[in-house]
Amino acid sequence: MVLRMIIGLGLTVIAFAVAGRRLWWLKRLAFSGQPAPERVAYAREHVGKDVGTQLTEVIGQRKLLRWSLPGAAHAATFWGFIVLLLTIIEAYGDLFSRTFAIPGIGHWAFIGFIEDLFSVGVLAGIITFTVIRLRNDPHREGRASRFFGSHTTAAWVVLGMIFLVIATLLLYRGAQQNTGVFPYPHAWAFASWVVGKALSPLGSGVNSVLEATFIVLQLAVILGFLVIVTYSKHLHIALAPLNVLFSRRPNALGPLEPMRSNGKVLDFEEADPDADVFGLGKIEDFTWKGMLDLGTCTECGRCQSQCPAWVTGKPLSPKQVILDLRDHAFAKAPWILAASDEERQQLPEHVRAEAERPLVAALDAGGVIDPDVLWSCTNCGACVEECPVDIEHIDHIDGMRRHQVLIESAFPTEAATMLKNLENKANPWGMAEDKRADWITELDFDVPVVDGKIGADVEYLFWVGCAGALEDRAKKATKAIAELLHTAGVKFAVLGPMEACTGDPARRLGNEFVFSMLAQQNIETLNDAGVRKIVASCPHCFNTIAREYPQLGGNYEVIHHTQLLARLVAEGRLKPQTPVEEKLTYHDPCFLGRHNRVFTPPREILEAVPGIQAQEMHRCKERGFCCGAGGARMWLEERIGKRINTERIEEALALDPDTVSTACPYCMVMLGDAVNAKKASGEAKQSLEVIDVAQLLVRSVRSGSGSSRGEETGAQAG
Ligand code: SF4
Ligand code: SF4
Repeated sequence: MVLRMIIGLGLTVIAFAVAGRRLWWLKRLAFSGQPAPERVAYAREHVGKDVGTQLTEVIGQRKLLRWSLPGAAHAATFWGFIVLLLTIIEAYGDLFSRTFAIPGIGHWAFIGFIEDLFSVGVLAGIITFTVIRLRNDPHREGRASRFFGSHTTAAWVVLGMIFLVIATLLLYRGAQQNTGVFPYPHAWAFASWVVGKALSPLGSGVNSVLEATFIVLQLAVILGFLVIVTYSKHLHIALAPLNVLFSRRPNALGPLEPMRSNGKVLDFEEADPDADVFGLGKIEDFTWKGMLDLGTCTECGRCQSQCPAWVTGKPLSPKQVILDLRDHAFAKAPWILAASDEERQQLPEHVRAEAERPLVAALDAGGVIDPDVLWSCTNCGACVEECPVDIEHIDHIDGMRRHQVLIESAFPTEAATMLKNLENKANPWGMAEDKRADWITELDFDVPVVDGKIGADVEYLFWVGCAGALEDRAKKATKAIAELLHTAGVKFAVLGPMEACTGDPARRLGNEFVFSMLAQQNIETLNDAGVRKIVASCPHCFNTIAREYPQLGGNYEVIHHTQLLARLVAEGRLKPQTPVEEKLTYHDPCFLGRHNRVFTPPREILEAVPGIQAQEMHRCKERGFCCGAGGARMWLEERIGKRINTERIEEALALDPDTVSTACPYCMVMLGDAVNAKKASGEAKQSLEVIDVAQLLVRSVRSGSGSSRGEETGAQAG
């Protein structure tokens, strides 16, 4: 009895000392990052929601359970370990008294049953994990495995440790049943009872030894597990609740964070190049929340498996970005945490070499993140959507882009023209401002252009967007939306030449300076005109005006055209009547769907059009697959791997549709280009078209035979 007490308590002291030292070191490293007072403020403001978030995300395992089998296995293991905290208390109690029982509940049959039930649940969970890992072996499956690039050896060690936790637990409980000190009615603790039956022939003397041995081994394994957790990816067990608590609300999709330096939003006019932080130029520029993200990654690879860049053979994996940053932060930590330059000079050569590594540079030049990785991101949000521990990949990627653009002037050369056009002409193509109103002259009704104040009878300002005003295919959607609003009797006006690019391409590229210049110009125009309600046709404009302009003081009621049109149909103000007999599939634009949760209105419009047979692609709604244009990728060459728009259109072609519909001018251009390439190679029928849902609706709303295919629509030139 005394010996087991000494061993048990001795191991506890050692394990807590080792784990505590590591946790202290991790805490110092995290807080070497930039302050993030807004995260603490968010958490405070949302205390009620925080409890709900913890209940659904952490306890409820919401995101994990989307992946049915691995999610169920993880939930069983997680919930099992919560319940098994009771058995840890019992094991410690048994060090002092063989007949220990938890005060109050220690003899309840139900507790014995539930402990055994979850022990078996954890065993089932780790068997499932083993099968999943064997079937997704990255050595065999290569990039197709979501575990490609993860530290798989550590994962196997942890699975082995979890098995030992359960094995030693059931063995000591089984032995206890034979020595007469088991606290619960035997048959209720069914798994321990089965093990007890198997050990029973050994006699009570041997069972006493087994009981003592396995109690000590149980504690040794748990304490070993505690230490391993603090040194491995299983740190997420401790950090995930914190990371979820301090994550952005409702998630890190939609708006980008404003640029912050030393915890304050950066004002370009007052910024000090020597004292302020411009984006993420070194690992210490990450905030403590950013550092927490790095430490929380579970290496599950869910983000990687959904990333369009990774899926199409590009070097970007959101998981690998997080792991590379984490490995770099850990390797550079002694340098970061050193008290003085003198101390830094005493550090081993490999630490000083790590400190010298540029955050973004070619890998053979020592970079942590290769530029091809950084510039491959489409900001589609699939990684953020999937991540079970709420890591904010896009903020980190675009934070690094900001530093590259603003300080290093290092970005793909083809983006320079787009930025110059934005600065000089306020649109990415560099077209003359007055061209923005040309589409109006092609209509047979009048569209008022705001001149001074917006008319008192005007309900909506129609934000057309650069593509909608200047790009031929997108212009057809613009005219269809205008016609539908006119038909429904909605009073609307446009800014015409006064409308400037929202700044989205500049911001997503990392040029916060050009973004804020354009955003301020637009906010001034909108405020001077007295605009309150805006309908936007481009999801990028919609996201920027609705969710990013408030960062600069521009607050408007903004909806997307599909939301307004769906409402007009529901109210009977638009009556789809002419059948459109077509097989169709709808592509979710990332900035409408995943970033802003507008999934239903476009589908409601399609459902209202008689004759349409809509089929969903495999990757749709929250799991929609990008067209390849977001994150300013529309303006960059796609030189590596398969084209993302080709991958997407092949998925659509598998359904043999007559039409691919969408609700975004970027998607129309990207998917239209992919369709044209497929037509040229004979892989798609010549009649296949890519059009906006508004164009389909206008065909059906027009009386008589409606408009023929391609008349008003964005039909692709065959
Ligand atoms: S935002 Fe999209 S493209 Fe960028 S890393 Fe995440 S999943 Fe990949
Ligand atoms: S970033 Fe999130 S989704 Fe990706 S591997 Fe890490 S924990 Fe999994």
